[in-house]
Amino acid sequence: MAKMACYCGASMSNVDCPSENVLYVMNKDRVQSALKYNSQITLIDFITNWDSLKDAKKLFISEDYDFWYCTQCKRVYQSEIKIGGNKLAVYTYYPDVDPIDKEVLFSMQELIVFTDIEEYDATEKDPPTLLADFISSLSAKRYFITDDGSVVYAYDCENECVLFSYHSEELMEIPSSDA
Ligand SMILES: [Zn+2]
Repeated sequence: MAKMACYCGASMSNVDCPSENVLYVMNKDRVQSALKYNSQITLIDFITNWDSLKDAKKLFISEDYDFWYCTQCKRVYQSEIKIGGNKLAVYTYYPDVDPIDKEVLFSMQELIVFTDIEEYDATEKDPPTLLADFISSLSAKRYFITDDGSVVYAYDCENECVLFSYHSEELMEIPSSDA
């Protein structure tokens, strides 16, 4: 359990369950490998068996990272837990997006992104939500990341346009405090 201050001054916490400040971000390949391994795998098994599916290929996506979301400024932090504090990659929200060729976009690595609240609502269900069903419930939006990890695009499938993007801001160290 931890708290963290955002660049904008807002405080973030993962104490609440679910937390509005906790995000799940992963390589889509990883979800596909899990489904290939077991097409009936439940969301909760997938989330808790994190370590058994070590096929992350990109730096942005790894079981070594937590992702934080600021509800005030919409920044996303990729947090690597270290002794005495967190090493953070900061991603800033950009509501305006330069035009991008759809073919270029769809050739990028795809990410699966969902909130702790979405995950919580789905895992609370009985019978347990299947990973495959949960992933299709997220299909209104798709996320893509550039090869260098510097930009993430959110694509609206219904309106066929990029909604917003995230740009890598910097790396920083923030001391963590126990809740
Ligand atoms: Zn913020």
